[in-house]
Amino acid sequence: MMTRRPYAVIAIGIALAGALTLIAAWVMAQMRHDALASARASAYNMALLFERDTARNFDVYALSLQAVVDAINDPRLAALPPDIRQNVLFDRSATAKNLGAIFVTDAAGAVVFDSRAVPPRELNVADRDYFTAQRDSPHVGLYLSRPFIPRDGPANATIGLSRRLSNPDGSFAGVVVGTMRLDYFRQLFSGVDIGRDGAVALTLADGTLLMRSPYDPALIGQSVAESALYRQFGHTQSSGFFAVGPLDGVRRWFAIRRVGGYPLVFTVAVAAEDIYREWRVRAWIIGTLTAVLDASLIALAVMFTRQLRRRGAVEAELRVQAGTDALTSLANRRAFETRADHEWARARRSGTPLSLALLDVDRFKLYNDRYGHLAGDDALAAVAHAIGAHARRAADCAARYGGEEFVMLLPETGEAQALVLAEKVRAAIEALALPHEGSPNGVLTVSVGVASTTQSAFANWRALTDAADAALYTAKRSGRNRVAAWLPATSADIADRSGS
Ligand code: GH3
Ligand code: MG
Ligand code: MG
Repeated sequence: MMTRRPYAVIAIGIALAGALTLIAAWVMAQMRHDALASARASAYNMALLFERDTARNFDVYALSLQAVVDAINDPRLAALPPDIRQNVLFDRSATAKNLGAIFVTDAAGAVVFDSRAVPPRELNVADRDYFTAQRDSPHVGLYLSRPFIPRDGPANATIGLSRRLSNPDGSFAGVVVGTMRLDYFRQLFSGVDIGRDGAVALTLADGTLLMRSPYDPALIGQSVAESALYRQFGHTQSSGFFAVGPLDGVRRWFAIRRVGGYPLVFTVAVAAEDIYREWRVRAWIIGTLTAVLDASLIALAVMFTRQLRRRGAVEAELRVQAGTDALTSLANRRAFETRADHEWARARRSGTPLSLALLDVDRFKLYNDRYGHLAGDDALAAVAHAIGAHARRAADCAARYGGEEFVMLLPETGEAQALVLAEKVRAAIEALALPHEGSPNGVLTVSVGVASTTQSAFANWRALTDAADAALYTAKRSGRNRVAAWLPATSADIADRSGS
């Protein structure tokens, strides 16, 4: 089976290699997907933790400032001596971590109380954004100012958190302002592992950068509002996306988290390079192994195919040899019988005639006696060659029937045609002019008996052969070196011969 279709093995090899490649590709795609999924999850979780911590702190600041507001609004405050009044105003707020000095201003922006100094520093904040915002609207609540960067550098940058003071009639009475050091966020960001090219940032809702890790003091207070990335923040509803960082051009996955109730946005960005670094190494290993396996598989298939083809060729050769007569190179008796079975069935199916000629060398015993057995063999080979040359059509079969007897199987050939062909063969052999002193003609000749299905309804090809044999006997008896057709009457001769 395999020997007949050697290329099927290569096809199977290629199919297996293809399947292997598909599986490897699928596994690698899954691994890549998983790498992104886990990076997304950790970026999201990190942003969530920042948000929670920050929200809790700002809630504390809001309450601290509210405590000052409440104390200011208490009518008994004015009656207290200045040192006690200072304590009452600021004791609760002083405990809030990272909250610096707290001021209270009047409606004109002049500082009237200062948690760090009694009497307060002389300062007017009327032009500050946290003052004007509260003055212009009673509904601001806790207001986060733009970052304030002191002259000694951004390391001590702060933002102001303000609350409005209102008169009993609701009119503006001033603000309570607490300063908060942005260093708090620097500490919050420190120590988190976001990969080699990762970044964390905190911005105000308007795009003002408050803190970034890796830390770069020059960026604090800068606005990223104009960057394409920041605009994308505004449009996206999802919790993250891939984008190229506006500050360094690195492609990152951005997880975005807005702090509830405050105009603060955390951005945790993990570099694509960091996300896929490990995956890339594994993909290389798996890819290389797969390629090696594929190549081996196909190489094995090719080698196996070569073996199969070689074996197939040998087998075919053996098959031919098994059906070939060694001396004459014609088909042998066994091959003839197989062909006869086949052609008989075919002729019956198609209703076409089938003829058969039996040939026997005349006085061959004498030839051997006179010229020797080896010369006899050469003569037989020459005769066989002449016979084979006349079995031209594909379906024709010339075979060595045994000894110095030959047979020609002639499908789709009627009696008349067969007789013509037999006569040609006989004449051709005579024309070989092989000297034969023991023969009346002086050359080697054959006698031929022909029988055809056009003559009678034979039971099988063996009966047809018997008829040809009877005709051959007739040819011999009537002088040899001639062709005789079977005649029903000659059946008696068979009995006659077998009787003799
Ligand atoms: P006839 O004209 O009646 O056929 O006479 P014949 O001598 O040919 O008689 P027969 O057919 O009985 O003899 C066949 C002889 O052919 C017998 C044998 O020695 C010889 N013979 C058969 N096969 C071979 C062979 O393979 N090689 C050689 N050299 N001789 C063979
Ligand atoms: Mg004979
Ligand atoms: Mg003979």
